[in-house]
Amino acid sequence: MENNMSSVGTPERPLCVAIIGAGPSGFYAAEALLKAPGLTVRVDLYDRLPTPFGLVRGGVAPDHQKIKSVTAVYEKLASDPRLRFFGGVRLGQDIKIEDLRARYDQVVYAVGCESDRKMGIPGEDLNGSFSATEFVGWYNGHPDHRHRTFDLSCENVAVVGIGNVAMDVTRLLACDPERLAKTDIADYALEALRKSKVKTVWLLGRRGPAEAAYSPVEIEEFGKLEGCDLVIKPEEAVVTEVSHLEKADANDKKKVAYVQEHAKKGEGTQGRKIRLRYCVSPVEIVGEGGKIKAVKLEKNKLVDDGKGGAKCVGIKEYETIPAGLILRSVGYRGIPIPGVAFDEKSGHIPHVDGRVTVDGAHLPGEYVVGWAKRGPSGLIGTNRADSVLTVQSMLADLKAGKLPSGVVDTAPESAPKLLNERGVAVVSYAQWKKIDELERSRGAAQGKIREKFTKIEDMVAALSVAA
Ligand code: NAP
Repeated sequence: MENNMSSVGTPERPLCVAIIGAGPSGFYAAEALLKAPGLTVRVDLYDRLPTPFGLVRGGVAPDHQKIKSVTAVYEKLASDPRLRFFGGVRLGQDIKIEDLRARYDQVVYAVGCESDRKMGIPGEDLNGSFSATEFVGWYNGHPDHRHRTFDLSCENVAVVGIGNVAMDVTRLLACDPERLAKTDIADYALEALRKSKVKTVWLLGRRGPAEAAYSPVEIEEFGKLEGCDLVIKPEEAVVTEVSHLEKADANDKKKVAYVQEHAKKGEGTQGRKIRLRYCVSPVEIVGEGGKIKAVKLEKNKLVDDGKGGAKCVGIKEYETIPAGLILRSVGYRGIPIPGVAFDEKSGHIPHVDGRVTVDGAHLPGEYVVGWAKRGPSGLIGTNRADSVLTVQSMLADLKAGKLPSGVVDTAPESAPKLLNERGVAVVSYAQWKKIDELERSRGAAQGKIREKFTKIEDMVAALSVAA
């Protein structure tokens, strides 16, 4: 079959789209396509895992179940017969880019940012130094991270960065584990947290309270944790003119007011502490016998960044805090996919208006959404508007006849047949629903919302038993 471009998107010849990645941005791209007026479209949603929902399943903290309820929207989309789910299909291994280019008019990368940034300081590779990505994946039962072990026999843990991911890992380490007992936290993680000896979590921000990346609700949640005090040094909870707080939005002003008020409370009386520090940067992770013992911090001052904000500069005053474990939470980064454009510097897929570019020129038929497009920023809902923008570019290209020329086989059975020939055990949406049902009943047996399968082979085995 060859493209007669003017007929693509009609009942005679539906627009065929592959979306790679079944997280929020992938689902929102599918939604925008399915809702496009006058368009006849077929969307195949691929994920390397047998399970959909990306970071909603593997990233959102188990004590934030309300955020996870967004999956109801994705469930509804998945019930549309024009959308098919192909779980357990790895791009670059099970299916190649060339296979997709031959079968779909448009390919959308919704692959997120699966790796993390490094701090680039001595000691970062010592035993006991991890990324928050690894810790989050571990407690959420992500198959990539379920095997990790974190030594929680130490009393002090350092978390670097003060974004919402840092808030999640800090809260999970500092809270009473019984508050997680009924959630979908992985059973081994709950067990490890129950045995944890951690008493203090040092939460380290390199800039001040006016620059903090966390949301107001996250910092306020710390103040309400049972068995734990949020401790802030009043002398660090200050704002100077370089922060231009007067121009800040209501959220930022609220965060500053909260920490300044909270700083007055002092040490508190609870057994565990979150010591939130501002204007400090780790400059060295200090080890003993190959294992982390402490973190050396340099104090920072804030100076005008020339862009209306504040940047930090070290002032050569140092202190050392104890830590047996360090989790860096300084932002995520994309991983290059073989055959797909990637900008090493920014860590995501280069694009203009969601159109993937190579050396600045648009690669016909290839698009990007979500964190893979704009980097790791924004809340789940941010991805909806972002995906709509990319779909607008896709539809404009369709209208202008700017479709790739190498599409040769858009038959609905073409991709499943190819995967079948390669022996790929594709998980359909109906099969995912079976996994979902089994996880919920495993959870119910333990008084939990869900007990996840954390190994892909266990999911596949459970499906064959259930078949
Ligand atoms: P983020 O919001 O970008 O925060 C990164 C933090 O790391 C910032 O505090 C940043 O400080 C700091 N940092 C960067 N480089 C550093 C370095 N070399 N040394 C010390 N600190 C450094 O990233 P994130 O926390 O990974 O979150 C990613 C996105 O997911 C965000 O949009 C977040 O809101 C969202 N998210 C939301 C939730 C939720 O709604 N509950 C939960 C998790 C994640 P500077 O500000 O100084 O650069």
